[in-house]
Amino acid sequence: MNQLRREPLLGRWVAVLENSLRPEEYAYPSATASGPCKICEQGSGAEEIEVVRDSSGNWIAKVVRDSISVFTPHGDLGRKGKGMYDLMNSYGETEMVIESPEHGLAPEDMGRDQMEVIIDLFLRRIRELEKDERIRYVMVHKNCGVPSGDTCGHPHSFITATPVIPMRVKAELDGAKHYYGYKERCIFCDIMREEIRLSERVVMDTGHYLAFCPFSARFPFEFWILPKRHNCSFKEITEEEKKDLATVMTVMLRRLRKVLNNPPYNYVLHTAPSRIPRMEHWHTLGEDFHWHIEVMPRIKRLTGFELGSGMYILSTSPEDASKYLKEVSDGD
Ligand SMILES: [Zn+2]
Ligand SMILES: [Zn+2]
Ligand SMILES: [Zn+2]
Repeated sequence: MNQLRREPLLGRWVAVLENSLRPEEYAYPSATASGPCKICEQGSGAEEIEVVRDSSGNWIAKVVRDSISVFTPHGDLGRKGKGMYDLMNSYGETEMVIESPEHGLAPEDMGRDQMEVIIDLFLRRIRELEKDERIRYVMVHKNCGVPSGDTCGHPHSFITATPVIPMRVKAELDGAKHYYGYKERCIFCDIMREEIRLSERVVMDTGHYLAFCPFSARFPFEFWILPKRHNCSFKEITEEEKKDLATVMTVMLRRLRKVLNNPPYNYVLHTAPSRIPRMEHWHTLGEDFHWHIEVMPRIKRLTGFELGSGMYILSTSPEDASKYLKEVSDGD
C-alpha cells in the first residue's frame, strides 16, 4: 500500500508510493544548460568581491556582486505598515560564487581541493555579510541545470543575505525549538541516531558526516548531509570537517549524476541565523538547531495537488533512492 509519512521537524505529511519509480523512468532535461554564458561573457565586468588565485596568479574561483539581484546593499530597512499589510525595502545582498573559470565543469568533477576552496568562500562571505546588523539571514544555494533556475551552465552558486528570516528557515527553527522544548534534545541529532540505527536510508557515513535520504523527503532522490558533531552554525566548522565535507559533496553529487544521468538539482545550506542579540532571540538556538545541506533533484514537476496541499508525492521511496545512490560507484 502507498504510505503517508509525517516529517518530524515541520510536521509536513508526504505520500510515498509503494511501487517506486526506477531512476530511468523519470523524464527531464539533463543538467547541461546551453546558450550564451553570462559569466564567460561578463569577464571582468562584474564587480569582484573576492578572488582566489593559484600559485601562478591565475584565478580559480571568485565572488562577484550579482547585478540582477532583487536585493540592494544600500539604504535602510524602511519597515512600515500599509493598512493591515507590512512592507519594507529590499535591503540585502546577493553574491555569486563563480566556482571555476572553466565553463561547463560540473562541481563533482572539480576535485576535492577546489570544492574546499568553494566551501571556504561560503564561510568567509557568510562571516562578512553577517557583520551587518540589518542582515538576519545568509543562505547559500546552488542551481544546476535548467529547471533548477540555472540558465548558463557555468558552475556557480549564490550567497544571499536578507533582512528577514525566510519562511522555510523560520519553520525549521521553530520546529527544532519546539522539539527541544519537550525532549531537551536536538531533533537533527535524534534523526541521525535513528538513521544510523536503521541504516536503510543512509548513503554515506563518514568520520564527520551522514548523508541519507530523509524518511519523508519532498523530492525523489532528495538527500541531506548532516555534520555528526552537533553545531547550529556552519561558521563553526573545523578544518577537518571542511575537508570531509568537500569529499562528501563530491562523492554524493557524483553518485546522483550517475544514478539519474546528470539530473538538474538545487542545494541549500541551512545554518543558524545571524546571532546578533535581538528582542525575540531564543536562547536555546545553539542547542536546538543543527546546520545541514539539502540536495533536491529537480526531476519531477509539482502537481496542483502538491502546490495546493503542501503534501508532496514521492514517486521513489527514500529507501529505494538510498539503495540506488549507495550501489552506484562514485568513481568516474
Ligand atoms: Zn561560462
Ligand atoms: Zn544536533
Ligand atoms: Zn533545512
